[in-house]
Amino acid sequence: QEYSFESKIAGSAKAHEQAKQVIPGGVTANIKHFAPHPIVMDHASGSRLTDVDGNQYIDYLLSYGAMILGHGHERVKEAVYQQMEQCGSFVFGTPHHLEYKMAQKLVDIFPSMDQVRFTNSGLEATLLAIRLAQAYNDKPKIAKFEGHYHGGYDQVLVSVNPNIDNAGEQAEPNSVAESSGMSDSDLDDTIILPFNDLEATGAILRKRQDEISAVILEPVQSGFVPADESFIKGLRQITDELGIVLIFDEVKTGFRLTVGGAQHLYGIEPDLTALGKVLGGGFPVGALGGKFDLMNLMSPERGGDILTSGGGQKVTDRALFHSGTYNGHPTVLAAGLATIEYLEEDGVMSDLLRKTEQLRHGLETVYHRYGLPMQTVGLGTIFNIILSQETVRNYRDLTEIDLETRKQIDYELLDLGIYTKPGNRYSMSTAHTEQDIQKTIDAHEVAINRLLNQ
Ligand code: PMP
Repeated sequence: QEYSFESKIAGSAKAHEQAKQVIPGGVTANIKHFAPHPIVMDHASGSRLTDVDGNQYIDYLLSYGAMILGHGHERVKEAVYQQMEQCGSFVFGTPHHLEYKMAQKLVDIFPSMDQVRFTNSGLEATLLAIRLAQAYNDKPKIAKFEGHYHGGYDQVLVSVNPNIDNAGEQAEPNSVAESSGMSDSDLDDTIILPFNDLEATGAILRKRQDEISAVILEPVQSGFVPADESFIKGLRQITDELGIVLIFDEVKTGFRLTVGGAQHLYGIEPDLTALGKVLGGGFPVGALGGKFDLMNLMSPERGGDILTSGGGQKVTDRALFHSGTYNGHPTVLAAGLATIEYLEEDGVMSDLLRKTEQLRHGLETVYHRYGLPMQTVGLGTIFNIILSQETVRNYRDLTEIDLETRKQIDYELLDLGIYTKPGNRYSMSTAHTEQDIQKTIDAHEVAINRLLNQ
């Protein structure tokens, strides 16, 4: 396939060829790859990315949502420089005051959290959540939802993006491996649930309650398919009733739907919450927060007595292991704190939400003017463009949608200076201006015309 803008990105092609010699596929994360080759960036500022050929793009990838204030925000830079200056180093490997300050900030924002631990990625936060839940409930399996992503490790790399042909019944999906190198026991220990189907989910959980320690979910699947309110409230009730730990993976949604994440929007308290992305203000981070009974299982100061969980299960008296050389990194926490404090200022989040609505509305108007079926789907500051009017409530609905046309439009948009990974969702930042929004809407109109006139 020919891409109209290939001649513009010759420098990226060359860089990619070189990278391929020493990096598998030329990318440090598989998701960064797309045909004909990824675009290699050189620098960024505010809402704009500039590639190695000097092409400028309005950025809606925003490092998979992390850069909520746009690139190189002055307040964040200032906080990072000041922190390095003040501490005279980059990291100590000991406790320091920013850890306490950030933990207190999160406990203040999220009513579901009594305590917090920091990690270096969202992946590590969900991994720790699952281990805690298993230590607490002492049952061998976990349950997750079809189409939900929680990081790239064996326990949850199951049925994230399965081929429907071997994904089984909608109401009782199979566990499908997402990678080579995984074992059958990984699949056996991860039970798959159908998102937004309370009846079927409840039936599986009740049937297998003696095996399941935890249910983990993205309250908004892939950041843009929201849980129905009745579904997520019902799930909270069932997991409470069965003594199953409920984990919200808010790595994407935390600080992005509202500052307080999906749990604030839905008015639900999970037992554990994983955070990441925005929390690091552009630096690698994750955090796990939750109720004292669970979180304190990892305290090295815990006494030697045998604790008994709600379900009458015995848990061991050994502190749950959690470690990491860079956990609670001062530079990262300084960047994250500056980001969250800025988001909490009067009018910042409401303005960002308003701009997101403006973009969504403008895009829908253009597509509909051309008689094209299209809806934007999402909550808060993340949405996706779906070329269909059908309601989208889960992974299987998404597989029915025309992704090829969507990708063709995205390739035209790359040519027109609008960046998102082809087919990917849109994240907004406070750096996006009214002009950026108008330029984006106009570019979509040009892309649609090009496609219609092919
Ligand atoms: N959970 C969700 C919902 C995510 O979106 C991601 C990252 N895309 C992760 C976990 C993993 O986070 P990280 O990439 O920081 O390990």
